[in-house]
Amino acid sequence: MTDASAELRAPEEVVRITRVLQDAGFETWTVGGAVRDALAGRTPGDWDLATAARPRDVQRIFRRTVPVGVAHGTVGVLGKDGRMYEVTTFRRDVETDGRHAVVHFADTVEEDLQRRDFTINAVAWHALTRELRDPHGGVPDLRDGVLRTVGDPRERFREDRLRVLRALRFAARFRLRIDHATWAAARESAPELPRLSAERVREELLKVFREVERPSAALRLYEGCGALATLYPELQACIGVPDGEGDVWSHLLKTADALPRRHAALRLPALLHDIGKASTAEAGFADHAAAGAAAAFGMLRRLKFSNADTDRAVHLVAQHSGIPASDGPEPQLRRWLRLVGAGYVRDVLRLRVADVRARGARERDPRLRETAALRRRVGRILASAPAFTLGDLAIGGTELRQLGIPAGPVMGEILRDLLERVTDDPSLNTVEALSAIVRSRIGSPED
Ligand code: ATP
Ligand code: MG
Repeated sequence: MTDASAELRAPEEVVRITRVLQDAGFETWTVGGAVRDALAGRTPGDWDLATAARPRDVQRIFRRTVPVGVAHGTVGVLGKDGRMYEVTTFRRDVETDGRHAVVHFADTVEEDLQRRDFTINAVAWHALTRELRDPHGGVPDLRDGVLRTVGDPRERFREDRLRVLRALRFAARFRLRIDHATWAAARESAPELPRLSAERVREELLKVFREVERPSAALRLYEGCGALATLYPELQACIGVPDGEGDVWSHLLKTADALPRRHAALRLPALLHDIGKASTAEAGFADHAAAGAAAAFGMLRRLKFSNADTDRAVHLVAQHSGIPASDGPEPQLRRWLRLVGAGYVRDVLRLRVADVRARGARERDPRLRETAALRRRVGRILASAPAFTLGDLAIGGTELRQLGIPAGPVMGEILRDLLERVTDDPSLNTVEALSAIVRSRIGSPED
């Protein structure tokens, strides 16, 4: 037992599942991310087990199982603690087509470790004997702060190009420097990355936002190895575009970093918010938010984001500028809220805070106070439940028909006009007041 192993503590259920499998005659190890995290002194996420048992053995031995990915050897075992533990048969990858590995089961943990991507992910730990099995030197690499592939990096990246992006993420997440040969192979791989499926590329980016403390650490590596240019040309185009103290690209990185991990979903719009500056630099960044929204739309479509996620991010990019002053006239603020939408305004303001922090604002900066004041004012306006849509008006089509206005474009025009009037003066939003406005407008004799 080494020092490293002494620090490892698996949940009770991992020990129990291991014991049951061992008692049934199947060698079983804890592997992958949890071992790595624990060795790195971080709280492990999912505990994964690797075993000599075949999936049907695991399904027979445990009462409560879930067929997570039986074809790939993975069976979920429901622990007494209510959590699910993935138990995967030892595997070796024999054939690959650059995207998918064709899986073959194996009999030893060594074979299983051999197929794994990086040395730090290829350490096995035995929950009963507490033995560490580290044939590729993952423990010393973690200690020395080095990320390297298991085996020849060019070969490993050729087998699966996604490993390049995984390398960038793990290096940033654990603050590792990428070993020379691994880095050289990553750079060679950059032109091949667009062949990866959009979904895998997208999920990697989202994992950066969710898992890495400062996304810029990973994205600078994307830039350095050429992955930014081949996968995200919209972002690459921001490099060297002067803006304030630095360039647009560094401002985007700082803005993404300024959002804490609990707001990971906002890191994407933060990273994109100024991409429109690349194409509008000549024009002094005029209409850069609209240009950015269009560029963001194209990028998120290409990455096959859902319509809902795309719309949300694009809208936030479009609305990140044009934010009114907190002491502006009430109708102006209400109009802005209608444009932005009540469901977006908090995120627009969070982005605003990140944006000014990225431009150097520290506590008590007037820009932060201003945003806080605007948030309070917006809260008060929203609490008064103002009319935001035609449906919020006190009168609708029925009343207008009674006033003699036929359904059609004129009716729509009148309703939109009423919404503007009510936005200026919410006290007008009553049946009486709005009917009176309509009557005077059509010059009705009743008036
Ligand atoms: P995370 O905390 O991000 O989940 P993880 O190490 O658990 O980190 P997973 O993607 O869940 O990452 O994969 C689990 C393990 O499977 C990895 O630790 C690694 O050993 C192996 N692995 C995953 N993807 C690959 C790949 N593309 N090529 C080789 N091995 C891989
Ligand atoms: Mg994992």
